[in-house]
Amino acid sequence: AAKRRGTPSWAEYTADAMDAEQAVPALADDLARAADAGQLRLLYQPIVALESGDLVAVEALVRWQHPTRGLLGPDAFIPLAEQTGLIHGIGGWVLREACRQVGAWQAELPPGRSLHLSVNLSPIQLERPALADEILEVLEREGFDPRALVVEMTESALVDDRSAVPQLERLRARGVRVALDDFGTGYSSLRYLTRLPVDILKLDRCFVADLSGDPERAAVAEAVIRLSQILHMDTVAEGIEDPAQATELTLLGYRTAQGFHFARPLPAGDVEALLHRSAAEWPSLPTALDPAA
Ligand code: C2E
Ligand code: MG
Ligand code: MG
Ligand code: MG
Repeated sequence: AAKRRGTPSWAEYTADAMDAEQAVPALADDLARAADAGQLRLLYQPIVALESGDLVAVEALVRWQHPTRGLLGPDAFIPLAEQTGLIHGIGGWVLREACRQVGAWQAELPPGRSLHLSVNLSPIQLERPALADEILEVLEREGFDPRALVVEMTESALVDDRSAVPQLERLRARGVRVALDDFGTGYSSLRYLTRLPVDILKLDRCFVADLSGDPERAAVAEAVIRLSQILHMDTVAEGIEDPAQATELTLLGYRTAQGFHFARPLPAGDVEALLHRSAAEWPSLPTALDPAA
């Protein structure tokens, strides 16, 4: 099991992993070398403004091109990375690589346009007291505007570990924004929500699926919009797969959304083409296949 408190040594983590299964240590060894071996990849999923169709942000989503097992999605290795402590190195690589790439895109944008970057943080990363300083250091080194960065985490990550709060406050003081990922699926009480350092609620895709078929889900989607307005937070609706969902969410008051309807997580080269498309072309976008999705 993962050690979730304190900062256990790498050896302790490895011992835990070895107890678990025979195959796991081998995979953990591979994972320890993955970043240096150049096997980690980033895909970028567009986040669009519902009204204009403008691509306003991208979420960086990690993949592992394993030498024998093929392209692995995060569900296949992030839990192992968390158990072994390798998540710290992987998370650092993700942030550096994403800032470098998105920074290059920002430099090419026409005047008046902006592009934000969302990066996911694991609860294990949040336990590390130096995390905020490390993130700010990367931003500084890459020359990336902190106001264009969003860090995403689940609500349980924040409620379970209150020590993350001062770190997030340090990031926010520099302009970094904090998003609660998969919002609505955790258990944070509304009382917590008013006190957490949060700027954006990402409505979980389970409320978006079957939006028109299930009045209760639609009611939750609407309640989240109202809540965000009261708490002065922004929202992003996740998992939009068809035009009806996009329309319905727009009517409910959502202004920003993400999902296969707009684009799947894409390799950097494919995002470049989208950056230069006009808004009207969005609904007919050809979506590249993400083999690991
Ligand atoms: P997430 O942060 O909630 O990311 C959104 C996930 O939903 C992505 O899966 C994306 O491919 C998927 N998705 C997006 N639009 C749609 C849609 O319309 N329909 C459906 N069915 N799915 C959609 P992915 O890339 O497999 O990532 C899964 C999770 O792995 C992420 O969930 C995030 O929690 C975690 N993750 C990904 N990259 C990183 C990373 O660099 N670091 C950490 N710590 N976690 C990561
Ligand atoms: Mg996310
Ligand atoms: Mg999510
Ligand atoms: Mg998720």
